[in-house]
Amino acid sequence: MKAALVTGGSGGIGAAICRRLAADGCHVYVHANRGLESALTLVNNICASGGSAEAVAFDVTDSHAVADVLEPIIEKHPIQILVNNAGIHDDAIFPGMRSEQWHRVIDVSVNGFFNVTQALMMPMIRSRWGRIINVSSIAALTGNRGQVNYSAAKGALNSATKSLAQEVASRGITVNAVAPGIIDTTMITSTFDAQDIARMVPMKRAGTPDEVADLIGFLASKEAAYITGQIISINGGMI
Ligand code: NDP
Repeated sequence: MKAALVTGGSGGIGAAICRRLAADGCHVYVHANRGLESALTLVNNICASGGSAEAVAFDVTDSHAVADVLEPIIEKHPIQILVNNAGIHDDAIFPGMRSEQWHRVIDVSVNGFFNVTQALMMPMIRSRWGRIINVSSIAALTGNRGQVNYSAAKGALNSATKSLAQEVASRGITVNAVAPGIIDTTMITSTFDAQDIARMVPMKRAGTPDEVADLIGFLASKEAAYITGQIISINGGMI
């Protein structure tokens, strides 16, 4: 049974990814930061439906906390599927953006990617099979007013995806990014109403977390072995 870690598994999209990977037969580490209760509830639900999961908690920006949790796990077995899904946005028009808003958003997406991915890398390389999927955003591809920090963070993640894919391709490890548009989670319901969505999205609806999870489930599968270094959009036709 392959082990999978989904950062931000306590959130809307992350929970759907955890359910999908568990349904595909993985042992899923459901990660949380502050929302450990949500992760534990999800673990119980997955196990109740015959899957295999456990919860882990750390702040992805804290490299020591990441190592403290992950090192004992990978001493026993490699985590071969990693979904870097944890992310935040903290929007402001650029002249008024506070330094903390800039640094925090970059810290979670970019330094979080570094801390977690590097911690899992060597055992994954030794196993000669791996899947790394980074959850990016349409904001990295089109830009978005008020999201200079978020676009920069997700754009960096896209570039890191392409470079790491080239480094590890010969070891049977693929590295891809998924760039969602508007997906129906609490991150978005506070930002867009139904009219906004109808105006912005050619399909006239938000995507669902399950639709993102289905794409990620495929990228994590053995059938996706020849797809690497790609930024794959899922956005109802926005671009
Ligand atoms: P949620 O707010 O529901 O989930 C965010 C997750 O990130 C939570 O599980 C949260 O953990 C975790 N997280 C935040 N900060 C940290 C941290 N410092 N350390 C560890 N974990 C952290 O958002 P979504 O499910 O909507 O978003 C998931 C991903 O998808 C994000 O990367 C987001 O940028 C991206 N995305 C979302 C879109 C959307 O429309 N919803 C569109 C495009 C991209 P906890 O709650 O436990 O603290």
